[in-house]
Amino acid sequence: MDYLYEKAPTPQSGLRLHLNENTGGCSPAVLEALRTITRETAALYPDYADATAAACRRFGVPESHLLLTNGLDEGILAASISALRGRSAEQPQAIVIVPAFDMQAACADAAGARIVEVPLDFNFEFPLRNVLAAITRATRIIFITSPNNPTGMSVPRGSIGAIAEAAPDAMVFVDEAYADFSETTLLGDPVFDDHSNLVVGRTFSKAYGLAALRGGALIAAPETLAPIRRVLPPFSINLAAAVAIPAALRDRQHYTSYLAEVRESKRLLYEALDRAGVQYWPSDANFVLARVGEAAGRVCEGLLQKGILVRDRSKAHGCQGCVRITTGTVEHTRQCIEALEEVLCGGR
Ligand SMILES: *Cc1c(COP(=O)(O)O)cnc(C)c1O
Repeated sequence: MDYLYEKAPTPQSGLRLHLNENTGGCSPAVLEALRTITRETAALYPDYADATAAACRRFGVPESHLLLTNGLDEGILAASISALRGRSAEQPQAIVIVPAFDMQAACADAAGARIVEVPLDFNFEFPLRNVLAAITRATRIIFITSPNNPTGMSVPRGSIGAIAEAAPDAMVFVDEAYADFSETTLLGDPVFDDHSNLVVGRTFSKAYGLAALRGGALIAAPETLAPIRRVLPPFSINLAAAVAIPAALRDRQHYTSYLAEVRESKRLLYEALDRAGVQYWPSDANFVLARVGEAAGRVCEGLLQKGILVRDRSKAHGCQGCVRITTGTVEHTRQCIEALEEVLCGGR
């Protein structure tokens, strides 16, 4: 089995609704901050004091509990290496729930794990029993994504607590890349405070629109973060990200108005899918998974011809016939709905 992260095409033109990016762009304050970079500061190794302080304020944790990373992707990689590096003769195992974000299995595989896949239950319910049954002596890391990508569904925190409890010697990595949109988080919850094997991953790529600048964070107990800190190069975040993060986090207005756009976009898309009789799963994130059926490939192709990119998820476990559509600004969502209605009608 190959655990590769397949990069989706990223053409320069067209409306990109296939990577869950922020379709409205980052805060203008970020560009102002980037303009403060000088020839001299570009020549120095960056300092992370401001970015770290801003992220700690955002997530309500002290600095000992937070680690900035070059995108959450780097956090997933560093956590995988730290949890899986050799300490015994037995091959370590990583539990991933499928379908989920492909980077988790890709990184754990690269770090030497045997990947144990646990499929979501019927209708994408969280498979708590099967995750608990998959835990063995060799389990070193368990990935949970909440809200999940591509289903958009959140994981009950009781289930996360039960897993952390059942695998005290494993790292339980909770990928909260879309928690900004669900407005619920494990951070500050007693479940998180009571289990030092929990690691929460966050990103500034999605809600804050910094995907190109690469900024993420891991939050965990200091003793859990310490071995992950050792894995990271000392200057893995570049100066542009380091100045962008505090500027983005200061602009609360930009952030909350984007979250409102996404909420409205989801409502509009649900209405359109209801009208078209297309099945979908109400999403806690900034995208919606819709089952257009046999026609998935044709729908993606038809939308592409109209300049709109969506993601064909047909091949993901349990997602036969499904496409994933990013719900960004209302304007972009309206364009997508119009094109989608033409493509769906055209084929009947
Ligand atoms: C987008 C995404 C990430 C990666 O975020 P970056 O900070 O851009 O690396 C991580 N996890 C999930 C589930 C994602 O969808």
